[in-house]
Order: sequence, then structure tokens, then C-alpha cells
Amino acid sequence: MTPELARTALKKYFGYDDFRPLQLKIIENTYRGEDSIVLMPTGGGKSMCFQIPAVTMNGTVVVVSPLISLMKDQVDGLNAVGIRASFLNSSQARTDAHRVETAYENGELHLLYVSPEKLLSQGFFTFLKRRNICLFAIDEAHCISAWGHDFRPEYTQLKGLKKAFPDTPIMALTATADRLTRRDMAEQLGIPDSEQHIASFNRPNLSLAVRPGRQRREQIINFLRERPDQAGIVYCLSRKQTESLAEKLREAGYNAEAYHAGLTGDHRAKVQSDFINDKTLIVCATIAFGMGIDKSNVRWVIHYSLPKNLENYYQEIGRAGRDGAEADTLLFYSYNDYMTLKDMIGGNTNSELQIAKLDRMKEYADSLACRRRILLNYFSEDHSENCGNCDICANPPEHFDGTVLAQKALSAVARLKQSVGMGMVIDVLRGSARAEIRNRRYDQIKTYGAGRETSTFDWNQYFNQLISLGYLYVAHEDYGKLKLAPAAKRVLFEGAKVELVKMTTIKARRAQEEKKTKQRATVKREHLGLFDELREVRKTLAREFGIPPYLVFNDATLHEMVSQKPITNAEMGRISGVGERKLHRFGDQFMTVIKKHVRREDKDKRGDLSTHEASYQAYAAGATVAEIAASRKIAENTVLGHLAKCYVEDKAPNLDPTKFFRIDAPDWIDEAIANLPDEGLGMKAICEFVNTKYGAGSLDYGQIQFVRAMRAREMAN
Ligand code: ADP
Ligand code: ZN
Repeated sequence: MTPELARTALKKYFGYDDFRPLQLKIIENTYRGEDSIVLMPTGGGKSMCFQIPAVTMNGTVVVVSPLISLMKDQVDGLNAVGIRASFLNSSQARTDAHRVETAYENGELHLLYVSPEKLLSQGFFTFLKRRNICLFAIDEAHCISAWGHDFRPEYTQLKGLKKAFPDTPIMALTATADRLTRRDMAEQLGIPDSEQHIASFNRPNLSLAVRPGRQRREQIINFLRERPDQAGIVYCLSRKQTESLAEKLREAGYNAEAYHAGLTGDHRAKVQSDFINDKTLIVCATIAFGMGIDKSNVRWVIHYSLPKNLENYYQEIGRAGRDGAEADTLLFYSYNDYMTLKDMIGGNTNSELQIAKLDRMKEYADSLACRRRILLNYFSEDHSENCGNCDICANPPEHFDGTVLAQKALSAVARLKQSVGMGMVIDVLRGSARAEIRNRRYDQIKTYGAGRETSTFDWNQYFNQLISLGYLYVAHEDYGKLKLAPAAKRVLFEGAKVELVKMTTIKARRAQEEKKTKQRATVKREHLGLFDELREVRKTLAREFGIPPYLVFNDATLHEMVSQKPITNAEMGRISGVGERKLHRFGDQFMTVIKKHVRREDKDKRGDLSTHEASYQAYAAGATVAEIAASRKIAENTVLGHLAKCYVEDKAPNLDPTKFFRIDAPDWIDEAIANLPDEGLGMKAICEFVNTKYGAGSLDYGQIQFVRAMRAREMAN
């Protein structure tokens, strides 16, 4: 057994050219008959470490795994690449179990997956001893330690394994274990001196971004618009939130389902299996979702609100991009989320520790330094380089002297007697003429209108910064009133300076991120035709063979097919992820589609105008909106939408957006946004608010679209 042999097996069965760091070292360790501890992040490629020994060594690898729901998918995946694997657990019919036992006794199995209960059941060791076992792989090995967060008492029985099989190496694998747990794990398994292989927890293909938690639904829908047909998970804090969000997404035309512990077992199983089989693309879930899933083509993960700690956060975003292809993660954060969680933790046992962890989570969200460095440092990995794939790296913050702004803000809070919320303080600063302000005589105080030149949106951001910096806090127990923290005194009375982050940074960050995804989306769209077709082939084959689509080929493999366009067996065999068995089984079906596509592409090089561009062409040629609507048989509002879209995409050189809205419209919209709840920020609600206040017909959808278009361009420039 040599490294060459291992490498050949990797190519032959899995279609991969190289091992990932540490994999080969662990395999060679096993070849020498040594025990090992393997610590790798989710998606890091742990399974390969025992699968390659299984096909290159004499005898069977016995895999002990507590996740029964995963066994079938794993075994199906192995069978699909021509590896002989089976499982034994309590969920199985007696006849099936008998067939597996016979196969084992006849020495036909490369791998045998068993649940811990099965392994420790009466007479099972004796049964196992009838054949040669070359390795015991203990998956989720941290479950054996009471120090870990996932302790399973039945696992402690595994202590007897080393004694019963002193000559068989043990490999303990886990994705989560601190030093203490690791040591305990090794001791309990009777392998205290085994070598520990600890892979980096960095997952460079995951992009990291944090955004202010305002208008979350709108932001999510924008995010999804750039990712048609991509699977993803939105983690929510409450059951209610998962359901209302899933419903809103369905209304917006997305294929989304809710998942939480309050649903029946059958219902949950169906949501999970539809997600695995690409029938449902989006799952809005509480944290209960994702544990028993190996789906490798999850392309994004969104956190609707702040997770409780960085461990949970990292594990949850880790469910994206297991195939190693690009995947995006987005965390929404507001100070409110933090306070809610803190209140929830309040009375718990060991609440101090939990609050300390929550504070680290908050620091991450507030951070102005590379997010990946913070994460990896938290997990005790030293990274001195910025990552280049987080929102901060994309737009490092620029500071400015915000002392005057801070003085205005803090003094407004003081003069309003710390008795109102942020929205009201901002309205007073901006000199709003709302009736409530006049009634309460807030227009008489000294700071009224002192912050007129700063927009509501910007003020919101500055206030959030002042809160994060510890000058202000929100009194949740007292209707969310803004209060002065002790540090505010230094600014108000002692001339202390305040450094703030420029708004341009925050705006630029979001704009650039959106631009980046747009570019990525356009690049993808060029390929999308073929990618979509290949995905269809994958779906059909998956159905035919009764396995999930990602087990046919993962997304990374399909993408490589799109860029390489293999049309011979030799070319197809060079694609990463295409091993011998799959080439033989699936190759032709994929190549047929690729050949057709290549031919079509040659013929068809002219591009058609998209519908919104056609509307603009007519407008540029002198037609009025009404004329365009009549001739194209669409609503005038639709035409306005088209023109606004062209403007945003910088495809409308002759269009002046300000001609399409009344001069007060931007302020009206800001005012509406400041006064409406986050959930109620649709165009309809904004129009109603403004028209009730400033007279019927003041604002309509068309105007809103152009104000948004103008702002979108301002942000992008
Ligand atoms: P884990 O068990 O650590 O969560 P897996 O073993 O499921 O991770 O591996 C995650 C993905 O990475 C799988 O799709 C697997 O095929 C792939 N993978 C593993 N090793 C390699 C490798 N050397 N080259 C390319 N892909 C790999
Ligand atoms: Zn970074």
C-alpha cells in the first residue's frame, strides 16, 4: 500500500486528482496500522480518509456513525462510484439486515456502516471477528465525551472496542472538538497517544458578509433575484419567523418551505427530502435544520438574525458550499437582535458563559476588520492575512472625525429627556414637520433641525455606530427609548473626539457586493443555459437511480463541464469528480447535451434585446410612456419599471430620473420608511402613508421606482 495506490484509487473511484491537505497523511498512517484523530471542518473531506483505505486495504472498514438518517445517502453515494458499502441499523427490515450480514461474511464489503447500538449489541463483536477488519472509523467521535456539546451516553460503550480488537487501527473523526474534548475522546477510545491531525477550519470558498438588519425581506428578495435556481437556507430565530418568511418568499415567486421542531415528523422529513432532491430550493429553518444533511450544493446561507454564538454561526454557514465551489453567506444584524437574545439567555444556568459567547458574536458583526480573521482567531487559528472574500476586505472602512455629528445626536437625546426612540430623535434632528412633533413641542428644542443635511438612512447608521461604540444604549424594557451611556458625558461636556466610519464605506460595501454578485450572475447567465440543461440531466438520472441529484455529480463538477465542454470519454474522464464508474454510467447522457449545446452556440451568436431594453429603445426614440404601454400591450407602471431598470443598469444615457418624480418624493419615502415597521415596507404601504399625510395622489409606484433607481446608481458610483 503506497501513496501512488491511494492516489490511483482517488482518481478511479472519485475522479479527483489530488488529496486535500492531511488526507494522504492520515491514510498512510492507517496503512501503517496506527490510530488517528481527525479534526476537519464540515465539508473538509473527512470521509475520504477512511474510504480510500477501504478500497485499497485488505478487509472491511467498519464505520460507526450516530446519524442513521445519513447512512443511506452515504452508502448510495459510495455505490454510485462503484464502492461496495452497506449499513446495519435498527431502522432496517430483518431480511435486509440478513443480506448485509451475509455479504460481510462473504468478504464482499469494502465498508460496513453501523450505528453504535448495533455495534454494541449482543454477539456483534463475535460476528465481526469472522472476517478481517482493517479499520474502525468512528464518525462524530466527540459524542463520546461528556465535555463535548453533543454527548451521547451510548457512545461511551465504545471504550471496549480497542480491547476487543487490539490489532485493528481506530480513526476518530469530528468537526467540532476543543482541546479538552479531544483529549477525553482519545482517552475514552483507548488511543491516548494517537496522532492528532487538525486541518485548518478555513473555508475560503465561503464569502462572508454582514448587513444592517433593516428591510430584511426586501434585501433577501434582492439577494435571491441574483441567484435563480440556487439552493439555500435562511436560519431564523423563531418558528413563526420561518413560516412568515417562507410565505413571503412564496408570494414573491420563490420555491420556499418552513422547517422547525413544531412540525410533524412526516412533514419535516418531506421538507428535508424535497430539499435534498432539489425539489424545494429554499428552506427557512430554525437551527434544527441541516444536521442530518450531506447535500453538497447548498449555494448560500442567510442568517435572518444574530446567532447565539460563533460556533453555531460557523457550523450553519458551513452547510453551504461543501462541494468547494463558491458559496455566499449573509448575516443580518441589529442591536435589537442582540438585546433579544441577551434577554432570552438571562435566567439560564451558565448564562454568564452564554452571554460572553453572544458578545463575541456581536463583536464579529460589529467588526471593522477582516471577518475571517476574527472567526479563525476565535477558533484558535492564527491568520495574519486579510482574506479578500469578506465584505470588510472588499471595502475597508474609512474613518472621519464624527465629533460634531455625535454631539448633535447625543444632545438631541439629552434634550428629548431620553424619553423617545431612535426614529423620533432622527425626525427631530432632521426638522420633520410631523404633527406629533409639533404637538409634543419638540420643534421648540435647540437641536430641532440641526441635522437636516444628513439623510434619515445615514442617521440611522450613525446612531447604530454610536450604540456599538458605547455612547448610547437602547432601553428595551422601556419601549426601546434611547438613553445616554456614561461615555456620552465625555463627548457632550469634556470635548472628547468621536471617530465614525464614513457612510460611503457602508453604502459602497453593499453596492459593491451587489455589483459583484451581478457580475458573477452575468458570467453565470452566459453559462446558465448549459448548466441548467446539465442539471436537468442530473435530475432525470437521479430519479432513475433513486439517489439525490448531488450524488450523481456535484455542482462543482457540472460547472467544470460547462467551462470545459468535454465531448469525448477521455475529456470527460479528466473532469474533477468524474470517476470510472460514473463516466461509464452517466457520461454519455451528459455529453449528448453538451454536444448539442456546442452546435447551437455556433449557429446562434446574435443576442436579443431583453424586454426592459426594448421599452427604453422606444423611449429614446421619442415615444411617450403611454404610447409604449399601448404598443407593447403592457401597463404603464411596467414601462416605468423597465425604464428605471435600464437606468440602474446604466443602459439609459438619455434618461433623467428626476423628471419622473415630484421633488419631495425622496423625503416622503424616507419619512415613510422611518415610520413604518420593517415588515411593512412594501411600495403599497409607503404610498398609503405618504398619500394619507400629504394628500391623495402625491406618490405612486412609478415615482418610488425612479427614486430607488436614482439611489441605486448613487450608491454604485
Ligand atoms: P466531511 O465528512 O468532512 O463533512 P465529506 O467527506 O462529505 O466532508 O467531503 C465533502 C466533499 O468534498 C465531498 O463532496 C467530497 O467528495 C469532496 N472531497 C473530499 N476529498 C476531496 C478531494 N481530495 N478532492 C476533491 N474533492 C474532495
Ligand atoms: Zn476578509
